[in-house]
Amino acid sequence: MNEPKYTIAVIKGDGIGVDVTDAALAVVAAARDRVGGFQLELNELLAGAAYFQETGQDVAPNTEAAAGEADAIFLGAIGLPSIRHADGTEISPHLRLRDMFQLYAGVRPIKAYPNAPQRLADPRGANIDLIILRESTEGLFYSAAVHNRCPVESDDEVQDILRITRPTTEKLHDFAFKLASKRKERGGRGNVTCVDKANVFRSMAFFRKIFDERSVAFPNITKDYNYVDATALDLIRRPWEFDVMVMENMFGDIISDLAGGLVGGMGMASCAEIGTEHGLFQPAHGSAPDILGQDKANPLAAILSGALMLDYLAEKFDQSQLAKAAQLIDKAVDAGFAANRIRPMEFGGDMGTLAVTREVIELVKSIVV
Ligand code: ATP
Repeated sequence: MNEPKYTIAVIKGDGIGVDVTDAALAVVAAARDRVGGFQLELNELLAGAAYFQETGQDVAPNTEAAAGEADAIFLGAIGLPSIRHADGTEISPHLRLRDMFQLYAGVRPIKAYPNAPQRLADPRGANIDLIILRESTEGLFYSAAVHNRCPVESDDEVQDILRITRPTTEKLHDFAFKLASKRKERGGRGNVTCVDKANVFRSMAFFRKIFDERSVAFPNITKDYNYVDATALDLIRRPWEFDVMVMENMFGDIISDLAGGLVGGMGMASCAEIGTEHGLFQPAHGSAPDILGQDKANPLAAILSGALMLDYLAEKFDQSQLAKAAQLIDKAVDAGFAANRIRPMEFGGDMGTLAVTREVIELVKSIVV
């Protein structure tokens, strides 16, 4: 029994973050049990608004160091609107982790599942399967309030910076092309769309120039461009045509919510935040205090984030069993929706957090792969 062991730093956080993290970890454990070949060691770390209320600190001592030492970080949800710093801002230590570990690649898969809400009348909406890749350390968020980097701030004028740097943008575009290559191997279209506003902003023209430079190394992947305003239109008119879409931070913030809305709700929005050395995986939704403690939260965003985490570890450690476990979870969710065995309350179904989790675990144990 010399199976490799990987450490996961687990921050359950606040509100439904706790329930959906438990759900995701239970599904990940079931996938591991079926596939075998690796072990996971969980290191639970305390952080968030409730912890802040108790202790006056937003993370327990050594949390950042322990998260940095782990092979991956899994986070439930952080923040409660009722608990804030003295200046009115919410408790958000996870944004510090993103900055500290330079998690530049924000990956948001957008996929239509059978029997899940489809917002478009056009039946081709059933074929939506794309990735929003959002740069997450610079862009128009570089001077966001949390970073305290506002260049001009007086009572007469305030400026923010849109920062695009070559090193981060090269890594980002490489990430986009590699992701498209991986998806192509699994039957994807093999295309990257550069979403920008290169006709107006120099920073965006620079972003596109680097996109073209990096594309040369990926001759098997096709590329195109779309201005961000046209992208908002095209995601309604023809979202099924997109594959990987790469963009700066603020564009990604807005476009990923729009795209998420096409395939359901927040309970389906999985997310990976990846840097050169570290990866953090979390559902894109918040702590949802309005449904807290009612077993109503849809755990699928967290469960699918668990699959993203396994896939990340598979690549990081070149371990095929981890990739198999990730694909098993993806297939279980797909098969569960197709057979109408997964019916989350979020979409008017009869299944709460625990029931959805139990069903996904059953599917993970039994589906034919
Ligand atoms: P944050 O700013 O921390 O992202 P938020 O205030 O924008 O959070 P959420 O906490 O994500 O918002 O909640 C937005 C809405 O979506 C709420 O009505 C919430 O109940 C719902 N929601 C969020 N996550 C889920 C989920 N997993 N299942 C069902 N409903 C959810």
